[in-house]
Amino acid sequence: MQKIIHVDMDCFYAAVEMRDFPELQGKPIAVGGRSDRRGVISTCNYEARKFGVRSAMASGYALKLCPDLILVPGRMQVYKDVSRQIRAVFERYTDLIEPLSLDEAYLDVTESDHCQGSATLMAKAIREEIFAETGLTASAGIAPVKFLAKIASDLNKPNGQYLVRPDQIDEFVKTLPLIKIPGVGKVTAKKLTDLGLNTCADIQAYPQNKLLERFGKFGAILIERAKGIDNRAISPNRERKSVGVETTLAKDIHTLEQCRAVIPQLIQELGVRVNRSAKDRVIHKQVVKLKFEDFKQTTIEHRSDEISVNLFYQLLEQAMERQHDRGIRLLGVSVGLASDSRADSHEGTEPPQMDLGF
Ligand SMILES: [Mg+2]
Repeated sequence: MQKIIHVDMDCFYAAVEMRDFPELQGKPIAVGGRSDRRGVISTCNYEARKFGVRSAMASGYALKLCPDLILVPGRMQVYKDVSRQIRAVFERYTDLIEPLSLDEAYLDVTESDHCQGSATLMAKAIREEIFAETGLTASAGIAPVKFLAKIASDLNKPNGQYLVRPDQIDEFVKTLPLIKIPGVGKVTAKKLTDLGLNTCADIQAYPQNKLLERFGKFGAILIERAKGIDNRAISPNRERKSVGVETTLAKDIHTLEQCRAVIPQLIQELGVRVNRSAKDRVIHKQVVKLKFEDFKQTTIEHRSDEISVNLFYQLLEQAMERQHDRGIRLLGVSVGLASDSRADSHEGTEPPQMDLGF
């Protein structure tokens, strides 16, 4: 049985800002892009959450919910530096660290003999050391498998931890809402609810072949998760699966011509980023993404082993067929990267990382 700790900093970017600018403490704040530039909230503090402000929300809308919201621009370099300090704490306990983002990581402490091998005590010690060294609080989830550790880290937030013991797994998953399972987004959750499926117990009782028919590979994952099974190992060098560039337009645009005009600059920037961070990797697909005025988004992709400008224009045309008279607020291009031969890649069941727009 593995011992996995999922450590997650509490409203990380906002917490760093409150630490460095104490005058912000006790006030509703959010780190994100300005509303007059159609920015999006990346993190907000608990005071802002009381008003319903959430990450990934348009800043303009957040300001409507909470007119006194203080919008702070991000300081990515500072967050990265703090992230390195946190990582250094993890490394005292294990080498098996899988970062999910700057403020979140899985640790496999199965073989670690700190704290007499107690993962609970290790999680506590890690959180204390992080606080002592950064002045920031973290929450942790401790479980025998990754997805349960991740869910557990949310249960005693902020500044708390939660343990799911091996003998508690069955009881724990029974009432677990499916939306809590990493990889189940709003769209999938809606499809499941439409079938009358809300909890893991519902999935356990539902015919497996129907789930597989309806959800394919993800259906198989759901069946496993609903039983508390997650065979994914910690992969210390989680590889990048894509490189992309996107732009939120200053004003909604409506025509294919207008979209085409935005593409060259995106492709140029994409080329720069691929050279910088994925030079030695094999490209295997190209993707175009559109986000419409109602915040729904669509992506179109096609196999490709290079960055083809013409293919991006073709994909854009296809994506525009889904426009249905809606204005377009965001346009993005990306390339998918093939897994290299290392055996540590696994299916992409984690939710995609959010582009914070820094
Ligand atoms: Mg966090």
